[in-house]
Amino acid sequence: MDAATTISPAVLILLGPPGAGKGTQARMLEDKFGLVQLSTGDLLREAVAAGTEAGKAAKAVMEAGDLVSDEIVIAILRDRMAQPDCAKGVILDGFPRTTVQAEALDGLLSENNQKINAAISLEVEDAEMVIRISGRYTCAGCGEGYHDTFKQPVEDGKCDKCGHTEFKRRADDNAETVASRLSAYHAQTAPLITYYDGQGVLKCTNAMGKIEDIASDLESIVGNAMS
Ligand code: AMP
Repeated sequence: MDAATTISPAVLILLGPPGAGKGTQARMLEDKFGLVQLSTGDLLREAVAAGTEAGKAAKAVMEAGDLVSDEIVIAILRDRMAQPDCAKGVILDGFPRTTVQAEALDGLLSENNQKINAAISLEVEDAEMVIRISGRYTCAGCGEGYHDTFKQPVEDGKCDKCGHTEFKRRADDNAETVASRLSAYHAQTAPLITYYDGQGVLKCTNAMGKIEDIASDLESIVGNAMS
């Protein structure tokens, strides 16, 4: 393949407050388009569980609902993006969350001759986010997301996707931490909507409806952005 016909791996960004459905939707897009979901929240939780230096530094910050330092998060993201599976294209879920991170991502992509196909803002209301976050849990086996009110497993206590029977809830999915996470979003992450609008890659979608309806909107946005 010559340079003119080389297709760069797609880079998609999901922007939105905690509870907007970024993780759920990223997993669906991953399956549909053969992309890799990169969640800095998941990577940080893995680092905390593994007790790495980064994990030790991040633990208390995450429990308080604040943002982990740009330096730590950028280093984690950079390492993960260098893994071979990311050559399929990535959906960034929860990164970037600050202008410094967005600029670091631009630098990393330009080093690799890549560009952002789309930054998609999931638009929701804060009050709804508190309800969504406080009822959510995931399968301990495969990570499939569920919710006490909106999405229970078809068979009680058994994951629809992998059949596992254990589930877990995140330590930071409680009312006080959610308030801090929402204010961190408005103060530090929401300005990225203007940042990506300025780059001409911003797409917005109403994320207040049903999971399937939002998924279908996102599929068409991503399909267009990748064509
Ligand atoms: P999430 O799973 O995306 O909701 O992230 C959970 C927590 O991890 C956040 O409340 C932050 O403390 C931390 N975190 C995740 N991604 C980032 C990021 N890009 N920058 C700073 N902190 C992050």
